[in-house]
Amino acid sequence: MPPAASQTINRLRELVQTPSVSSPSPAWDQGNRQVVDILANWLADLGFSIDIQAVNDDGSKANLIATLGSGPGGLVLAGHTDTVPFDEGLWNSNPLDLTERDNRLYGLGSTDMKGFFPLVLAAAESFRHIELKQPLIVLATADEESSMNGAKALAAAGKPKARAAIIGEPTGLTPIRMHKGIMMEAVRVVGHSGHSSNPDLGNSALDGMHAVLTELLTFRDELKTRHRNPAFEVDFPTLNLGCIHGGDSPNRICGQTELHFDLRMVPGVSNDTLREQIRQRLNTLGDALALDISLHSLIDGAEAFEQPADCELVKIAERLTGHSALAVAFATEAPFMQKLGMEAIVMGPGSIDQAHQPDEYLELEQIGPCITLLEQFIRHYCL
Ligand SMILES: [Zn+2]
Repeated sequence: MPPAASQTINRLRELVQTPSVSSPSPAWDQGNRQVVDILANWLADLGFSIDIQAVNDDGSKANLIATLGSGPGGLVLAGHTDTVPFDEGLWNSNPLDLTERDNRLYGLGSTDMKGFFPLVLAAAESFRHIELKQPLIVLATADEESSMNGAKALAAAGKPKARAAIIGEPTGLTPIRMHKGIMMEAVRVVGHSGHSSNPDLGNSALDGMHAVLTELLTFRDELKTRHRNPAFEVDFPTLNLGCIHGGDSPNRICGQTELHFDLRMVPGVSNDTLREQIRQRLNTLGDALALDISLHSLIDGAEAFEQPADCELVKIAERLTGHSALAVAFATEAPFMQKLGMEAIVMGPGSIDQAHQPDEYLELEQIGPCITLLEQFIRHYCL
């Protein structure tokens, strides 16, 4: 194996050996600062200027913005530094070490998505003695797998700025220009409990929930009719009734019940607009039934994403990869990059099928082509 390739693998080993789980569960949640510091050192050695942005109070969670060259325009190569939690017992090797077998590199985050960074480093290395006309920016974020707090901190700070951004999530090096949004919501129905022998002694929250379910299924049908998008494998918005809790006894009128659902919208309608439409329908129902029916967000959610097919970045990506840009079923930080004024695509090594799984791996054969591709993008945007 050539020395450059072994350096790339050694770098990935160091990143995998540095745990950076992010999770809404405090038992799992860790900082990403050590990963950021390792990347910052490597990039500083290549001549990048380093900006570390704290994402929480003690700085144990942070974003890295590393810049080579200066001026307007330029290219952002972006990835998240955190991983999801893992089931160590289900792995065939240590998830927090890098194991090479069958032409694959196994380890937590090998494909989602610590593996992207050593390849970015290898591509950037080719330009260390060349003066860039527009900047190359390496962006490494915190908490993508949990709260998206890293991306939110960037949005609040209004940086980085460039012409284009590539988010290196695993797509098998196919350019992606669309994904659905995700929202997870709760509907709470509050009525009055009472003795079940006489309906007038209360106002049943469960009867009200029956009306809520009917209303949501009607809304789901309307979304499906109005918002088809053939780019997606599931070519319509989905609304899943996930769980329901309420009541306590067959002989009591139910006083309170709560439903949780998720909604995955195709590009074109924001989560806020959808929430407002649902809220209006629920208000109408609540007034008619004299029940307190309210909508609550369980997570901040992720917006749907679409980068127009005819923009410069998509066209170049299609030319360089030989693949037309597609849609995927997972959400990313791409909408945040767009809001900062950049054209954005998702394109990186490895497969999402291996992400969030025991025995996650990156195929060795993805490494060379990915580095070459990134060099071509840097040449286009920065020289
Ligand atoms: Zn990811």
